[in-house]
This record gives sequence, structure tokens and C-alpha cells, in this order.
Amino acid sequence: MDIQATLDALLTDHHDKLDTRAVLIGPGALDAPGVAAIATYLGAGPWLVAVDAHTWEAAGARLTGAIDAAGHAWERYDVPDGHDSPHPMCDDASVEAFEAALARGTYTGAIAVGSGTINDVVKLAAHRAGVPVACAGTAPSMNGYTSKIAAVLSDGVKTTVPCTAPRVVLADLDVMCDAPPRMIASGLGDLISKPVSNADWQLSASLNDTFHSAEAMEIIERGAAMLEGVAPRLQGGDREAMAGLVGSLMFSGLAMSVAGSSSPASGGEHLVSHFIDMEAHAYGMSYDLHGCQVGVGTLTTAHLYQRLAELDPATIDVDARVAALPAWEDYDALLRERFGKLYPAVVKHTRLGYPTPDALRARLERLTSGWDVILERVGRTLRSRDSIERDLLDCEGPTRFSQLDVDPERARRAVTWSKDIRNRYTILHLAWELGLLDEWADEALEDLV
Ligand SMILES: [Zn+2]
Repeated sequence: MDIQATLDALLTDHHDKLDTRAVLIGPGALDAPGVAAIATYLGAGPWLVAVDAHTWEAAGARLTGAIDAAGHAWERYDVPDGHDSPHPMCDDASVEAFEAALARGTYTGAIAVGSGTINDVVKLAAHRAGVPVACAGTAPSMNGYTSKIAAVLSDGVKTTVPCTAPRVVLADLDVMCDAPPRMIASGLGDLISKPVSNADWQLSASLNDTFHSAEAMEIIERGAAMLEGVAPRLQGGDREAMAGLVGSLMFSGLAMSVAGSSSPASGGEHLVSHFIDMEAHAYGMSYDLHGCQVGVGTLTTAHLYQRLAELDPATIDVDARVAALPAWEDYDALLRERFGKLYPAVVKHTRLGYPTPDALRARLERLTSGWDVILERVGRTLRSRDSIERDLLDCEGPTRFSQLDVDPERARRAVTWSKDIRNRYTILHLAWELGLLDEWADEALEDLV
């Protein structure tokens, strides 16, 4: 498959729904062709180039050398390390600082040199300043390069904020192959969640009539096809395999942009990862790369789907389940106890998704009466937990919470409490409504901690 040609065709076909105009993944991305694409979509300069010490080494020096050779003006901006962190963080302070730097000059565009964090800082600040963005990627670690959302730590809580996607994304395959092995594993982890997050997306559409886009699904599936057979070759510097991973990451981000929502690429497994991040930031606990956490979260939710498929719908007692639904006041008190200082940030999301007894009855009746059709629809994209684990192992990625430095109690909290941090219906919510989440989580975690 010619991945560059496939990407070009996608950008053309969905031109009206996308901000991104050019994605270059081949050789030359950081040389004259990449600079020409930047000049086309960001104006002739000057450009403000955001780097940190590492990304300068990995790609910044080479790209700016090519910018000099082409005769465009640019200035370097070093993204500072976060508060209490040895690395840059995408938080309110770093976004405001870059926005202020943009306001001090007459830049026609901003260039992010980095992966998730620097890309998020630049695209959010530049969006607010009304300046177009290019991104030169330094690692295939997540699917956000082409997305219209930025993950930002705002008032101590990790949230996603809508913004304009980069006009131009450059991903040199040599740079990607040289990325740290764990960042490569993180990219695979973020993508390996799709069979399960797509099941969540379909589950919500089937039970709640929420929006589902066949167009975005088709993009996800084409992106997934690029990943076939690549996992064992990713850590060996195989450029063809790397092109598959990078292409699939770009497709995943573009699918979110076409759908106008992160739902095609983010289900219960992402809630597990976000929960780990939230506790980390609130209480100074450890956390790992986004995709590494998502990969382990995916093994958990894949297990829940297997248990759901084994369930006999005749055993679901809808009256009993509705009678067992806690009154909101009681659940609210439980949330306050569970989330402590995070409670104010969490409760507004929980409240939006919390069912009334009538809504729960309607949902469970729909599930039991349409069981075969719904499970068939939801199962179309699903993969088994074992096959997902095999791919993660092939790519030398973590497959246990302990490998993320998350202890068993925290893992259990992440799986059983994270459904309350976002109003997005997933298998975690359904398992809870069936009264089975604790039991299934314990069983899944038996060999995942
Ligand atoms: Zn993700």
C-alpha cells in the first residue's frame, strides 16, 4: 500500500471537514518539500518554532536548516519544563506563555517540533491567537497530530479542548524509527484500542441513539489495515512497518476530525488512562505515556466485552437492576468520598451521564430485547484480549498495570471508578448498570496487575 498516496486522497476527499492540508511521511519531510508545504499553508514567515532540548536535536536543527536554505525567517522558542516536571507539560501556564510569545512578534505561523505535549501547547495557543500551525513530529507516540483537540491540564484537571488542527504535519520516518522504544510502543497502544473503543462507540449508538459516523468508521478501518503485521517489526528500525504505524496514527486523528468527536478513537480504555493521569496530577503519583496506559486499559475493556458476550440475556433482571440504581443524592455522596479534591471537576460529568430509573429501564429493555443484533453490531470491530496482548508484546509494550507503575489498588480504582469522569457511555457503564463491573474488573485484573 502506498501510504502517502492514501493519505493525500483522504485529505482531498474530506477537504471540507478537515483543517489539515498536507501530511508528509516520506523522506524529505524535514527538508525542502516540508518547508515548501509550510510556506504554502502558513505564509512566508517569519515562523515561531517551538522545541525543547530533545526535539531540537531530533528534528528541529534539521528542519530549521532547511528553512534557512529556503530563505524564510524563523525564531526559536524553547517550551519550558512544567511545574515540578523535568519535561514540558501542556498546562494553562505553558499555553499562555506561547500565546504571549506569538503576540510579541508578527509571525505568519507557528511550528511545533515534538510529539503530544509540544503539539498540544502550540496548536491550542496558536488557535487562540488565530495563527496557523505546522507540526514536525518526533515520535509515533499518539494519534493527536491530525486532531482538532488538545489535551491540557487546566486547573489541575486533564481536559480536552477543541482547537484548529495543524495545517501541515511532517513525519520523517528516520526520525520516527529513532524515537525511544517506549514512545513507539505508546503509538501502537493508542491505536490498538480502536477495535474496543469502536465497540463502545457502537454500543452507545445502539443503546442510546448517540451519533455514529459510518464515514469516520471507514477511515478508522482503513487506518487499521495499515497496522496489519507491523507490530513485531516496529522496534527494529523497519521503515515500511513504521510507515504503517505513522499512517495509521494520522488516519486515526483524521477520523476524529471528520467525526467532529474523539469518540471513534476513545472509549472506556481512555477513561482508565485519563483516570491514572488525573490521580497523578492531583496527588503527585506516577504516570506513563498516554498510549502505554491506553494499551493496558484496552486489555481490561476487551475482557469486559468477552464477559458480556458470554452472558445469557435471560439472566438480566431489569426490574431488579432499576431497583438497585442508587438515588442521585446517594451516588453524589459516594463520589464526594471517592474523588476528594477532584470531586468538583468530576461531578459535573457524572451528573450528565447518570441515568434516571426510567432511562435505565429503557436502555436495559432495549439491550435484552435486541441482544443478538446489538452484540453482533458491537462485535464487528472487536478483537480478543489475547490477540491485542500479543501485538503489544511483539512491540515490547507494557501489558500489566505494574509495568505502568500503577499498584493493584489504583488499577482497581481506575477500572471501577473512571466511568464517572466523562459523560461518554462505554462498556464500563453498561457493566456497572448490570451490577457486574466489580466482579468483572476483579477477574480481568487477576492477571493484569
Ligand atoms: Zn489516545
